[in-house]
Amino acid sequence: MNILVINCGSSSLKYQLIDSETEKALAKGLCERIGIDGRLTYSPAGGEKEVTDAPMPTHTEAIQLVLDALTNEKTGVIKSLDEVGAVGHRVVHGGEKFASSSLITDEMLAAVEECNDLAPLHNPANLIGIDACKKCMPGVPMVGVFDTAFHQTMPKEAYMYALPYEYYEKYKVRRYGFHGTSHSFVSKRTAEFLGKDIKDMKIIVCHLGNGSSISAVKNGESIDTSMGLTPLEGVIMGTRSGDIDPAILEFLAKKEDMSIADLNNMLNKKSGVYGLSGGVSSDFRDLGEAAAAGNDKAQLALDAFAYRVAKYVGAYAAAMNGVDAIAFTAGVGENDADTRKAILSRLTFLGLELDEEANKKRGEDNIISTPDSKVTVCVIPTNEELAIARETLALVK
Ligand code: AMP
Repeated sequence: MNILVINCGSSSLKYQLIDSETEKALAKGLCERIGIDGRLTYSPAGGEKEVTDAPMPTHTEAIQLVLDALTNEKTGVIKSLDEVGAVGHRVVHGGEKFASSSLITDEMLAAVEECNDLAPLHNPANLIGIDACKKCMPGVPMVGVFDTAFHQTMPKEAYMYALPYEYYEKYKVRRYGFHGTSHSFVSKRTAEFLGKDIKDMKIIVCHLGNGSSISAVKNGESIDTSMGLTPLEGVIMGTRSGDIDPAILEFLAKKEDMSIADLNNMLNKKSGVYGLSGGVSSDFRDLGEAAAAGNDKAQLALDAFAYRVAKYVGAYAAAMNGVDAIAFTAGVGENDADTRKAILSRLTFLGLELDEEANKKRGEDNIISTPDSKVTVCVIPTNEELAIARETLALVK
């Protein structure tokens, strides 16, 4: 069955058409500037990438253009829409209502809408994407796959904030965690790659990209993760601060005459390695180059990032009372050997030993610890679209 995977933002929409039997993408691409002017990128597997400017007043026109591209007589990869068996939608926040993926029905959509308060920038956009697909492909079964669902197994002691209990009761203020599709995919793949049963394993997944989060996966279940009510908590990220003393906010609001919106913008868009490096870049390639050229702040940002990730790994080894495997994934985790080394050099107390040669390889599942290392360290490329396609297939089969 061919499954269309949709990841919808407020003005953009990423898509992939995946053949569930071969698990290969037949085509992928992106709609950008929806509601502004509109640009469609379409890459059929083995074919030429096309970029077309095309008006996209709403997400419905954007989806229709994607479907036209997929069925185009010359460059399409399918003959008609009948060849799309199901659609899998990424949905950012499922609150406490969704501990797993769910078939999209009217009741399900109403329950997602109730979670909109928890992710006001993301969930409404995800819902618009679902609505647009329903209009363009009536009758095709659709599934919502939640970023938060995998972490719903966290115990209460891990997900509660030490705030007055009533805020949890009234507004469900608690830690949820994100990147769940990736943490689930990578932890399963780590066990499979190592030839072990995930039910007997303690795995720490380091999803390090522009947004980063760490999770502790014990016996196949997430028992803790570094992001919280929103994706702002946890390790230092590209432009997000991660953990800070919350009292800094009042202090800066007074000193700099900043509003809550200003503070939120600063924490999400101007902080992280970008802010700490004095604005050099949020991209680890640029930071590595700047640090090599003698930029002290870029070096500080890289050091602080590695330090914070190592601290979380240490904490999660404690949370699980041990760790068998550490898996690195996402843009930085998969590609940046120097950052992996900087993190792992702080964790030798675990009996962990890095294989420097293996650490230099890229692009595939790979063990980067020595055979004697007490903890196996791997690089496992994540594939959130494939994970969404698998979840979708399981529910529509
Ligand atoms: P993601 O959010 O997973 O797409 O990751 C994007 C980030 O990965 C970029 O902002 C870079 O910081 C990082 N990245 C990608 N490729 C490399 C590379 N070859 N070396 C270092 N960092 C990389």
